Amino acid sequence: MTGRKEKNKIKKCPLCSGGMSDGTTATSFFIGERIIVVKDVPAEVCGDCGEAYMKSIVVDRIETLLDKLEDLHSEVSIVHYEAA
Ligand SMILES: [Zn+2]
Repeated sequence: MTGRKEKNKIKKCPLCSGGMSDGTTATSFFIGERIIVVKDVPAEVCGDCGEAYMKSIVVDRIETLLDKLEDLHSEVSIVHYEAA
C-alpha cells in the first residue's frame, strides 16, 4: 500500500511470462532428517507453467508454523497452512 493508485494489470510469471492468478500450493521443507509438507498455502500460481509464488507474509507465517512443529518427532509431517 504505497498510496499510489495501483494499475490493475495481471502479474506475469518470471519464468515463462504466463499470467498469474491467486490460488493455493503445497510446499515442503527439509529440516535435518525430517520432511514437513505444508498444504493449502495461498500463492500466486502461473496459469501456464504452474509455478507458485508465495508472498513474504505467507513465508513468515510458515516459518512460525515450522517452529511450532519442532517439538514433534515424526519424520514426515503434513500440515495445513490454516493451522498455523
Ligand atoms: Zn510460468
